[in-house]
Amino acid sequence: MLSSSAGPATLEGYGSCSFKGAVADKYLKEQGYDASLLKDLSWPKNEAKAKAVAAALLSWATDNGAKQYSHWFQPMASAGVRHGNAGCLQMAMFDFDADGVPYPSFSHENLLQGETDGSSYPNGGLRATHTAGGYLSLDPLSPIFIREDTMYIPSCFVSYNGDALDEKTPMHRATEAMSSQGKRLLKLMGYNPEGDLINNIGLEQELFLTTRSAFYNRPDLQFTGRTVMGKDAARGQELSDHYMAPISRATGAFETMKQIQAECYKIGIPLKTPHREVAPNQYEFAPMFGNVINQIDQNMMVMQIIEEVASENGMAALLHEKPFAGINGSGKHNNWSIGTSTGVNLLNPKQLNKASGNAEIFPVIMAALVSAIDKHGDLMRLSIASPGNDFRLGAMEAPPAVMSTYLGSSLTEYLEQIKNGKMSEYSPEKKSLSFGAANVPDITVPAEDRNRTSPFPYGGARFEFRAAGSTQNVSLINTCLDSMTAEAFKIVADRIEGGEKPLDIAADLLKQHEKCIFNGNGYDPNWPDDAVKRGVWRIDSGVDAIDQLDSEKNVAMFSSIGVFSERELQARKSVLLTYYTGVVEMEALTMIDMINKHVIPSVKKADVGNPNKLNDGIKQIKSALKKIHAEENETKQAQMARSLRLETMADVRKVCDDFEAKVPAEHWTLATYDELLFLDTFPEGEMW
Ligand code: ADP
Ligand code: MG
Repeated sequence: MLSSSAGPATLEGYGSCSFKGAVADKYLKEQGYDASLLKDLSWPKNEAKAKAVAAALLSWATDNGAKQYSHWFQPMASAGVRHGNAGCLQMAMFDFDADGVPYPSFSHENLLQGETDGSSYPNGGLRATHTAGGYLSLDPLSPIFIREDTMYIPSCFVSYNGDALDEKTPMHRATEAMSSQGKRLLKLMGYNPEGDLINNIGLEQELFLTTRSAFYNRPDLQFTGRTVMGKDAARGQELSDHYMAPISRATGAFETMKQIQAECYKIGIPLKTPHREVAPNQYEFAPMFGNVINQIDQNMMVMQIIEEVASENGMAALLHEKPFAGINGSGKHNNWSIGTSTGVNLLNPKQLNKASGNAEIFPVIMAALVSAIDKHGDLMRLSIASPGNDFRLGAMEAPPAVMSTYLGSSLTEYLEQIKNGKMSEYSPEKKSLSFGAANVPDITVPAEDRNRTSPFPYGGARFEFRAAGSTQNVSLINTCLDSMTAEAFKIVADRIEGGEKPLDIAADLLKQHEKCIFNGNGYDPNWPDDAVKRGVWRIDSGVDAIDQLDSEKNVAMFSSIGVFSERELQARKSVLLTYYTGVVEMEALTMIDMINKHVIPSVKKADVGNPNKLNDGIKQIKSALKKIHAEENETKQAQMARSLRLETMADVRKVCDDFEAKVPAEHWTLATYDELLFLDTFPEGEMW
């Protein structure tokens, strides 16, 4: 199975399977246009242009062996349970004439919209089987791409009433709100950049790779993505020896990582950085950042490609936030900034000051963002409340469930001056760093050190939402960030229009909201309690966080900027809660099965003790599930599910793991942590 393994991931054919740039140019020219047509996002509303794009796509698809097309969309509650996180319905790109003879066919109607059954995806009661229509509209912000024999058309998905049924539609609404309120604010301060404001993100995707053969011996990994039991290996990450270690060519991971990157390059995903991470068998990819809409689509494909390529190379990829206890889990750092259409980054003071000629804008934007974080930390917290993240947050590997921001001392001091009415231009200096050896050249580094313990640190030109979970579709995260930013921009713009001076507003916002700025160690055990005393949002339970989605404050905020109606928020909350409970139920049932089919038989065969405790554990889990089923309130159900997995199942796991420690290897039928976590120590992990 090992293909040509030498050499770097190839850039040959970069973007050849993505309809943009030179590829789009070539095929659109055949239709009398060029790729600039796609830059004006209103092209789908112009029939002649839409017809030209459809004809160009048909010709491109035919040349590349694609025989079908599909609208490609992102149903809610897909993370970790739906391969590729996407919905797609393939349709042939040909028709049949009266004699039944096929001919190539793809119309602009085919291109622009699609339809599917809205009631068959999680919808929180927005759709029922008797009112089931779900409608798809092409997303002009994300390039159409080809994989295998299918041309995928990124799309948004709503109900017959226009309620968002997907992750993407609200994301569009939020970026549009952020852009229009941001442009309004900038204009009031004398800066009028052309085009829309863009939310740029870069998503660092962490994952584990294990061997396929070990994976086949773990029903929990197969069904739920995490191990619900498993005794620690004698070696973990204690010596930090895995972090950034070479990816060994003697293991299947090498070919897997290389092929993932190459396949991403083909569809134009700039997946620049592969490396090993802190835990054994943990890896990471980071792309070059870009427009949030496109980046999220690309991340969905990155995750899909990771899983597919891994299994083709004898590996299994685990994208779950916490596949293994006792070692680090996986996140997906969401690097976040706002730029103009010409590439001016509003979070980069030097760029912004130069482009705008007004040094007051940067502190006003920063004050607005600080106010948004302080007011809406609950939204940030709930947006990362994926079931898997409940095992990570606060566990010394991801920041705690407190929503503060790290700005660094120089920016904090600068904003302190703004708060006290002293205006100056913020221009952080880089500093020179000496290595203390004459032959080693000095290098230049940022004025500020990095803080990896804050959930939302500022890094000189971007914020990094470090608490995002590795399986997540980060749309809700960025929908929340962009919405709260839009609201903050709106408030400032309204106040300027009301006659206040921008810097006075910034000072006032900082006075009210600076309490969410925390430059200390976020992993300090005292911080969560201190944060509460300060009045900073802290919500330990993901379920309790989700419960806030339709609070009065949040309904008011989202509806004031047109991102979510109250109905949509209630539905989304219901989807998130049901998803949480559903995930836990799968984990619980898998655990019961594993105890019955593996742990008890092994214990009996090895004769290492009385398995009664295991039977008791099964009874406890079953009774908890029964109670969850009897409960009607979805929030309460999810709360019960949460304590089932974090308390009851954790206790039962301990019993299993204690038995595992005693059972001789020959009688233990599940793959062990040793086998799952060290590729180069077992034959199956080597090149196969
Ligand atoms: P680190 O691990 O140090 O945070 P990485 O290089 O692994 O850094 O990842 C940083 C990510 O942030 C990359 O995806 C990068 O493209 C992205 N990024 C860099 N600058 C910006 C920016 N201004 N806005 C959004 N994302 C950015
Ligand atoms: Mg990072």
